Amino acid sequence: MHTVYKAEILSVGNELLSGRTINTNSAYIAQRLTILGYSVRRITTIGDNLEDISLVIKEIIERKPKLLVITGGLGPTYDDITVEGLAKALNLKTIINEDALNELKEKYMKRGLELTQERIKMAILPEGALSVKNTQGIAPGFMLKYNETVILVTPGVPKEMEAVLDYFINNLLNEKPPIHYYEESFLVKGVMESELAPHIKKMVKEYDIYIKTHPKGHETKDPFLEIQVVSSGLNKDETLNRVKDTIARLKTIVKQLNGVIID
Ligand code: ATP
Repeated sequence: MHTVYKAEILSVGNELLSGRTINTNSAYIAQRLTILGYSVRRITTIGDNLEDISLVIKEIIERKPKLLVITGGLGPTYDDITVEGLAKALNLKTIINEDALNELKEKYMKRGLELTQERIKMAILPEGALSVKNTQGIAPGFMLKYNETVILVTPGVPKEMEAVLDYFINNLLNEKPPIHYYEESFLVKGVMESELAPHIKKMVKEYDIYIKTHPKGHETKDPFLEIQVVSSGLNKDETLNRVKDTIARLKTIVKQLNGVIID
């Protein structure tokens, strides 16, 4: 078995807890990290509260994930306190980060605007942080390494989060999981999830593979399932073949159960 690269995601924002904003960032980040070969172990959502942010980060760090991605709360307003919470959790000072300040200067000066206290606030980062370019907005993201964990902090606005995450993955993330990830799905009509369940249980035990049924219809009245097969491993061809073989075997079982396969 290969080393598992564990990852965690932390979303910060009162609007996520009140239901005003749907936490699409977490799903997006989870998908990107999973495809890269990480095993995302937890997704946590908390409000803009200094104590909560700091406590939750401490707990995550204790679990020693290889990667922690934090989104939200990097803006210029008083309630954007992610940096403060992170610094408190890790016992780090915050200082003006020169690269972040230059990025801000450039963005505001281009628009003929002054650097006010609120704007400079976005360049105050924990000591040792490396700023990460935000090509879609103002507040720069940043990364830092703490013990075994690489921490990436991005703004909350989805397109800014995506830009910062992209830049980080492509240019700054040195140690990626050394594994290949592959998944494939197909649709089945006329077989109940409960009928298929014992077969899947047996196959999952037999092979090093993840099979998940996603019900799309009604279990008894109108059985309709999406069957997802996922594998990851050190060898690309082996990983792909394991998924292909499993899909073929599943399709045979579905036919034996009188199901209809929709590709
Ligand atoms: P900015 O640099 O633009 O000020 P920020 O880091 O301060 O960004 P937040 O204030 O946390 O970002 O969020 C800004 C907006 O982005 C929110 O009002 C919300 O609409 C959206 N947003 C924040 N977090 C998420 C999330 N997890 N999923 C989807 N949208 C989000």
